Amino acid sequence: MIQIYTGNGKGKTTAAIGLGIRAVGHSYKVLMVQFMKGEDIYGEIKALKNIPNFEVYQFGLKTFVKKGELKEEEIKITKEGFLFAKEKIMSKNYFLVILDEINIAIDYGLIALEEVIELLKNCPKEVELVLTGRYCPKELYEYADLVSEINEIKHPFQKGFFGRKGIDY
Ligand code: ATP
Ligand code: MG
Repeated sequence: MIQIYTGNGKGKTTAAIGLGIRAVGHSYKVLMVQFMKGEDIYGEIKALKNIPNFEVYQFGLKTFVKKGELKEEEIKITKEGFLFAKEKIMSKNYFLVILDEINIAIDYGLIALEEVIELLKNCPKEVELVLTGRYCPKELYEYADLVSEINEIKHPFQKGFFGRKGIDY
């Protein structure tokens, strides 16, 4: 089935990883492809290196992507990641595939919406596919079996707490 975790509240990437942990607990293979992220700071990436059957690949640069000011390298690496993800999904080698922050990549124009719709239409029924990231285009909802919008009611960010180690990264 196809799942989407979107909305502006906290908990999309961590929910997808939680799902992945659940799946590997049953000895299923999991793949997470991360878009927009290229830094080596994420606690979850460090932890997942020690978990067999949970593969993670990052296709992002270390620098912050600005909407409306896309760089050649950003487009290139995102396209590479999308191609990689498509091949892995079609291989049916994984029980669960997580495309982390792909919704933002679409919203920013790094991946064409039509290409993602094509992928969702052709996703093998043996594969559970999860798309995460805020700003998911509503056009994708009809191709998904599960859509969760996480709404921000409160976030410590509003009180000046920016990215906390071990909590936000
Ligand atoms: P998490 O990775 O903690 O599950 P997320 O995937 O839902 O969060 P993103 O939209 O990917 O959140 O945001 C990336 C970063 O911003 C994360 O460090 C996250 O903790 C933080 N964040 C998430 N929601 C908010 C918010 N409403 N205000 C400020 N920062 C947020
Ligand atoms: Mg996230």
